[in-house]
Amino acid sequence: MLGGKGANLAEMTNLGLPVPPGFTITTEACRAFLEAGREPAGLRAEVDAHLADLEREMGRTLGQPDDPLLVSVRSGAAFSMPGMMDTVLNIGLSDASVAGLAAQAGDERFAWDSYRRLIQMFGKTVLHVDGELFEERLEAAKRAKGAASDLDLDTADLRTLVAVYKDLVAKEAGEDFPQDPRVQLDLAVRAVFSSWHGDRARLYRRQERIPDDLGTAVNIVAMVFGNLGPDSGTGVAFTRDPATGKQGVYGDYLANAQGEDVVAGIRNTVPLAELERLDKASYDHLLRIMATLEAHYRDLCDIEFTIERGTLWMLQTRVGKRTAEAAFRIAAQLVDQGLIGEDEALRRVTGAQLAQLMFPRFADDTGEAAESAAAEAPVRRIAQGIAASPGAAVGRAVFDQETAVRWAERGDRVILVRRETNPDDLAGMVAAEGILTSRGGKTSHAAVVARGMGKTCVCGAEALTVDPVQRRFTAPGGVEVAEGDLISVDGTSGHVYLGEAPVVPSPVVDYFEGHRSAADDEPDGLVGAVHRMMAHADRSRRLLVRANADTAEDAARARRFGAQGIGLLRTEHMFLGERRKYVERLVLADSDDGRAAALESLLPLQRRDFAGILAAMDGLPVTIRLLDPPLHEFLPDLTELSVRVALAEARGDDRAEDRTLLAAVRRLHEQNPMLGLRGVRLGLVIPGLFAMQIRAVAEAAAERLREGGMPHPEIMVPLVGGVQELEIIRDEAQQVFAAVAAETGLDAALLSFPVGTMIELPRAALTAGQIAEAAEFFSFGTNDLTQTTWGFSRDDVEASFFTAYLAAGIFGVSPFETLDRDGVGRLVALAAEEGRAARPGLGLGVCGEHGGDPESVRFFHETGLDYVSCSPFRLPVARLEAGRAAV
Ligand code: ADP
Ligand code: MG
Ligand code: MG
Repeated sequence: MLGGKGANLAEMTNLGLPVPPGFTITTEACRAFLEAGREPAGLRAEVDAHLADLEREMGRTLGQPDDPLLVSVRSGAAFSMPGMMDTVLNIGLSDASVAGLAAQAGDERFAWDSYRRLIQMFGKTVLHVDGELFEERLEAAKRAKGAASDLDLDTADLRTLVAVYKDLVAKEAGEDFPQDPRVQLDLAVRAVFSSWHGDRARLYRRQERIPDDLGTAVNIVAMVFGNLGPDSGTGVAFTRDPATGKQGVYGDYLANAQGEDVVAGIRNTVPLAELERLDKASYDHLLRIMATLEAHYRDLCDIEFTIERGTLWMLQTRVGKRTAEAAFRIAAQLVDQGLIGEDEALRRVTGAQLAQLMFPRFADDTGEAAESAAAEAPVRRIAQGIAASPGAAVGRAVFDQETAVRWAERGDRVILVRRETNPDDLAGMVAAEGILTSRGGKTSHAAVVARGMGKTCVCGAEALTVDPVQRRFTAPGGVEVAEGDLISVDGTSGHVYLGEAPVVPSPVVDYFEGHRSAADDEPDGLVGAVHRMMAHADRSRRLLVRANADTAEDAARARRFGAQGIGLLRTEHMFLGERRKYVERLVLADSDDGRAAALESLLPLQRRDFAGILAAMDGLPVTIRLLDPPLHEFLPDLTELSVRVALAEARGDDRAEDRTLLAAVRRLHEQNPMLGLRGVRLGLVIPGLFAMQIRAVAEAAAERLREGGMPHPEIMVPLVGGVQELEIIRDEAQQVFAAVAAETGLDAALLSFPVGTMIELPRAALTAGQIAEAAEFFSFGTNDLTQTTWGFSRDDVEASFFTAYLAAGIFGVSPFETLDRDGVGRLVALAAEEGRAARPGLGLGVCGEHGGDPESVRFFHETGLDYVSCSPFRLPVARLEAGRAAV
């Protein structure tokens, strides 16, 4: 009800900390205002009463001409929200009271500075006058005076500026700046209420799924003044380093300043440690308060404070934002300090933070290796953009997609630089190491597509002027970058460098790989902290984690990263390269014998693939998916082949095989291959194909058994929509198992492996009870299930209309990234429940990308699945999130 800011102000007041007196109008009042379009009955009387209390406590009234009480009016919802109204300071000043303020403070300049600030802030945020117009006039006043900073403007200058501002307000807003202090207050409160429905605020809420009807609180706080001379000032502080988590004094301080000056960069701030020299008593007081806050909130806090003539005032605190590294280190430190338990520590770190720590980084950002970088080539930071998709990418600047593709093909690493991207740039984005744009935010096309591809991207680097025609861009300070010049982009920090910035591998990945242990780390170091959080997550989680892995190397890495089996082994890559010719023969075979011969050639190759993986995953389950993609993907491209045949015919050199192949490619060509002849349909239409794969599995397992291994393959049938499809393949599998047992003389029980199915069609989910009669396990293929449930093609949407969808707030994040609980999630829950009802021991897992997505892992835990399966690199994230979901 009090909003974050109001609640924490009240909390600090209750702790006995020096907070200027004030009161908070609750979110309830805001909701009532928004509903009725006017202030709720009773609000005025309540504000009157609380204002009277405040005035009594302060010993003067709002705007009192000879000694005015001034207040700030500050918004503050339960969630901090960009796009809502800022704060208005110095409410209560007017032509009449400015003289009183001057007399009381004994400082005329200060009073006029406060007044011009009020008109500026009020004009901009309450009366909606373009803020730039005020800035322009302030700049003009400084120029006229030859002043370097606002401090060089004297009383007369500020008086003139006030007059200029008042004219500006009258002209732009069509009404005079209100002189009645109570009118100022009421209008400011109303503006805070209304800002809840600002466009940016709405969009932000829609994307973040923050309910639209919460409303904001309004804090009315007696002003204290940091602009009362050199013994006053304003600052921000953190109780720990938000970058590394180290406890200490971190922050910035600006003497003789008010409000946002310290973050607005209008003058140079000094490090907070300087305050000890400037004002030792206030500094010591601040440190004591920081200790109190840490003990109370049991976490890193950030703080806004003001010193008025040697007296310290606390204006805000909250549990502070921090980098991923600091999050882990602070969680571990707080456990050691006895402030929180291990469960709480685990709740305070996220899978998204862990994922960030696993990207390679530029040395510059860690401080490591900075010297060697300086010694080699000069690497210079030239711009800062929006960190849209993490990673560290180095390459040659290229300005169009054709060049990107051409240069990448000849082996160059390239960075695609554009003003903004659109779907036509897609091939270039795929070819590039990274993407850099000068326009657009986190939901721009470049950002969305790059994140989808896991590609490094910095967008909206507005200081860059990109000229695609001249193939160059310029950066501030006369930097010119031409096509072919090396640049580096850091998608984690948003930094852009000229030259090849040295990349350091992630110490966290080194740790997961087993190249570095927590014991090697500095005390309180990152690796030690990650190690402890992972250990607690592994102890706590109920969900098992498996990997999506297709090769023995992937399987081995997956094991190092903590995989408890393979949840998805795709077999399609086993039909590529050299082996395409067998697929061609299989498709072209016009007799059973021909088909059998082609399958016969594939069998030993497949057996070898499976044996390698079963060995790497010895003792753990390996779920092998039978061939899924449409066969045409393994055949030549229709257009290319048509041209080849036509040319050959024209030359009179026409080869019968090519013509037959072309006919087959035509026959297999589909308008909508993802909804076509694929998955179990292939197995049913091409006799012997699935049986060959199943035999390869069984024979590889038999081989492992004879060598003393413990193979646990599971056969998974893709794209089943009805139980009848599955029954046919299951019967076929059982015959193959029995045959291989008989041939090898092994016990039939040892060679009978589970047969299950993917649940990736809505019909499969809806008929899960029937399908479970024939399936020993389900694995939710949530990529296809999302595609088939929403009816969007996952290969096309990211590039075509998702940008528009994200911008319109239809979803905050792609449903291919985070599982859509309301739709796809219901199908998963239904299938899990009805499947288990039909077959109590039914195994349940997930093998879509969602298996490694933090939000989705939580859902799978809540739905009671047995495991999630994801790419090896995402395993630590899945383990951590499974642990977090359980504590
Ligand atoms: P934000 O949510 O943008 O941080 P705040 O309401 O915290 O907005 O106000 C911004 C800044 O204005 C504060 O950090 C503080 O410096 C200044 N400020 C707000 N209220 C007061 C006050 N009563 N006295 C002095 N300064 C204030
Ligand atoms: Mg603030
Ligand atoms: Mg699928």
